[in-house]
Amino acid sequence: MISKHPTSPQGETLSPRNRRFRIFATCDIGSALDVLRQKGYEVEAYPDPQAPPKELLLERVRSGIDGLITTLRDQIDGEVFRAGQGHLKVVAQLAVGFDNINRADANHYKIPFTNTADVLTEATAEFAFFMLGSLARKLWSAEQLTRQLQWGFWHPYLPFLGDEVTGKSIAIIGTGRIGMAMIKKCTGFDMNILCYDPAYQNDSYIAAIQELMNLRHARGIQKEQTSIQYVDFPEALEKSDFVSIHVPLVREGESSTPTFHLFNQRTLRMMKPSAFLVNTSRGPVIDENALAHALKENWIAGAALDVYEREPLPPNSPLRDPAIQDRCRLFPHFASAAKITRLSPDPNKGMAGRCVQGLMDVLEGNYGGDIKKMPYVVNKEAF
Ligand code: NAD
Repeated sequence: MISKHPTSPQGETLSPRNRRFRIFATCDIGSALDVLRQKGYEVEAYPDPQAPPKELLLERVRSGIDGLITTLRDQIDGEVFRAGQGHLKVVAQLAVGFDNINRADANHYKIPFTNTADVLTEATAEFAFFMLGSLARKLWSAEQLTRQLQWGFWHPYLPFLGDEVTGKSIAIIGTGRIGMAMIKKCTGFDMNILCYDPAYQNDSYIAAIQELMNLRHARGIQKEQTSIQYVDFPEALEKSDFVSIHVPLVREGESSTPTFHLFNQRTLRMMKPSAFLVNTSRGPVIDENALAHALKENWIAGAALDVYEREPLPPNSPLRDPAIQDRCRLFPHFASAAKITRLSPDPNKGMAGRCVQGLMDVLEGNYGGDIKKMPYVVNKEAF
C-alpha cells in the first residue's frame, strides 16, 4: 500500500500529526520559532549571543533532533552530519551564503540544507550602496570632525574633500541576485556599469537596464548618456571608480570559478589609484593583508568592508591600522541587518520566516515530499 504521507530522505514516514519534531537552533531567530512551536514542534534555541561550542552542537545533533537551524558562524561539516546520521533530516541556514556548510558532506549523508535567498537581496544591495557613499563622501571623517569640535571654519577644500558618486563608473563583480539589485540602485545615480561574472550572464536584465538608462537620458532625467555591459575582470577593475563585490565564497576545487582571494596584490594593483572597493560578499574573497598594504601604499583610494577573513574582526587585524582609518570603513557583517529582513516570520519578507519555511518543507514533506521541488533546498543534486 502506498503511504499517504511523504517520506524523509532516509525513508521515514513524515506527518506533522504523528510526529513531534525536535529542533535545535544555534541562536534565537525570534518569533518565527513560535510558528514551529504552535505546530507542536519541540524547539530549543541556544540562548547565548555567541555561537554554541562545537561540542555542544554535536551533542544536540547526536541527541536525535530532526532539524537544525544554523547561521553563517556555525561550521557544519562531516562531523556534524555524521552525528545526525539516521535522524537529522534538514539543516536550515539563516543566510543566503552557505560556505560554512560542507556541501559534499551534506550530500554524502543525504541531508538537505536550505538557505534564505532573495528576502535579503535589496537590504544587502542598499547597504553596499550606503557603504560606497560613506566611503566616497568621507562621512565618518566628516562626523568625527564635527563631534570633536574640529569644525572651525567653512572652507572650499579644507580640511578635505570627498568624491561625488553620481555619474561615475562602477564594476559589479558577480551579477547574481544582489549584484543585479546593486545595478538597479547604481542606475538611479546615473552611473556607468561594468559587469563581470564568468559563471552567469543575465543579458536580458542588462538589456533592460540599458533601455532604462536610454529613457532616463532621452527624457532629461539624467544629463549624460550612460551604459552597462559585461566585460572581462581586468577591464572591470581598470576602468571603474568603484568596485563592488557580490560573489559567493568558493574555494579552489569547489568550482571552476573560485573566488577565494579573488582580490589580491595582483588584482588590487589593476584598480585605479582613485578607485574604491566595497565588499559585502564574504571576507576571504579579499586577501586582507594585501588590501591593508594597498591602502597604506595608496594603490587604491579606499575600501569599505562588511565581511572579513576572520569574524569578528580580530583586534590585531591590519585593517585596524590607524594609518589607513580615514579610507578604510569597517562594518560588523551588517548588510542584511534590517528588522523585517532579518526577523519577519513571513517567508516572503524575512530570513527567519524563510528559514523556518525551508525546514518545515522538508520535515512536513511539502511539495509531495520531493526535495528537488522545494524552493529553499540548496543541495538538490543529492536527491
Ligand atoms: P547569487 O548566487 O545570486 O550570485 C552570486 C553570483 O556570483 C552568481 O551570478 C555567480 O555566477 C557569480 N560568481 C561566481 N563565481 C564568480 C567569480 N569567480 N567571479 C565573479 N562572479 C562569480 O548570490 P547572492 O544572493 O547575490 O549573494 C551573493 C553573496 O553575498 C552570498 O553568497 C553571500 O556570501 C553574500 N551575502 C552577504 C551578506 C552580508 O550580510 N554581508 C548578505 C547577503 C549575502
